[in-house]
Amino acid sequence: MSTKRDYYEILGVSKNATPEELKKAYRKKAIEYHPDKNPGNKAAEEKFKEAAEAYDVLSTPEKRQRYDQFGHAGMSGAAGGGYSQGFSMDDIFSNFGDIFESAFGGGGFSGFSGFSSGARRQTSYGSDIRIRVKLNLYDIAHGVEKKVKLSKTVACKTCGGSGAKNKDSVTTCSTCRGSGQVTQVVNTMLGRMQTSTVCPRCHGEGKVIATPCATCHGDGTVKGEEEISFHIPAGVSEGMQLNISGKGNAARHGGQNGDLQVIIEEDPNEELVRDGSNLIYQLFVAVPDASLGKSVEVPTVDGKAKIAIKAGTQPGTILRLKGKGLPDVNRYGTGDLLVYVNVWIPKKLDKEEQKILEKLGASENFKPKPDAGERNLMDRLRKMFH
Ligand SMILES: [Zn+2]
Ligand SMILES: [Zn+2]
Repeated sequence: MSTKRDYYEILGVSKNATPEELKKAYRKKAIEYHPDKNPGNKAAEEKFKEAAEAYDVLSTPEKRQRYDQFGHAGMSGAAGGGYSQGFSMDDIFSNFGDIFESAFGGGGFSGFSGFSSGARRQTSYGSDIRIRVKLNLYDIAHGVEKKVKLSKTVACKTCGGSGAKNKDSVTTCSTCRGSGQVTQVVNTMLGRMQTSTVCPRCHGEGKVIATPCATCHGDGTVKGEEEISFHIPAGVSEGMQLNISGKGNAARHGGQNGDLQVIIEEDPNEELVRDGSNLIYQLFVAVPDASLGKSVEVPTVDGKAKIAIKAGTQPGTILRLKGKGLPDVNRYGTGDLLVYVNVWIPKKLDKEEQKILEKLGASENFKPKPDAGERNLMDRLRKMFH
């Protein structure tokens, strides 16, 4: 006589449970009675097996149909497939591995046996080096070659960076058998999890050095110096970072070198103020020059440039020297030099100057009569910054 419990009852679902509901119910039971959560508990193990058997029958349409029609009697026949013995633990994990995968968040879990594939060897990486380079406006305008001497980790010349005394003293790591990774099975609340970690013996390299190089003591690197030349393109600006690949610290055992990161610092120019790729120069002209007009010189990144101050030039006038600014770092053209004209007023006057100016002040022509353009302050500011 069969003493088996009803499969639906075991999983705690209704007779019309959908495949999704069955799966969910089984997963719950499987976690609840998982042997790792119930060590040495025979009753839990039985329930675990019972749930697996119930799920196997109910999740297979033909078996479920037969079970619905004939009950347990329908399962013990030749066609039913020998359920009297129940499932072995290995069967459960090999048949329902996917359930556990998803129950444990996928990946990394593979029941009681088996190894996850995809073990990868690790290359060691050297650390990056950051340096700051201060540039003046001339260098920024034209680009510049820089040469720096760095104290850094370099590959050992004796062993060529391998860290080994000779070729024969490098052997495959016996702990990970050269894979660079070790697989550990750990018990967690959710059951047994298999995780892969970097081999602690070879640090993921897959090989170990039996006889280390006498110079670097097996590291493959030594303290040293290197002179590095690099080009800084025109148009860079404060805070920009250039990455010079492979010029950082050397890596252990001939791995991948770090990078040299060059941080740009701008040495501010006293005369030319930078606004993106434009430069702004403030030109002071004397009152008579602004009134009568004059040819003057202004500084640029390429020396001096001559410009004409027309008679009647107002303070705040912006003169644009096309292409006399800085090149864009991405080569989207070159900026302009904007000359902001200021009229300098003497702060002290002698008697004669005072008389002349008083006379001029009485003239109707010297009373301010700004036109619309001169009144529009926003327009003037926009001209300067855009
Ligand atoms: Zn060495
Ligand atoms: Zn290893």
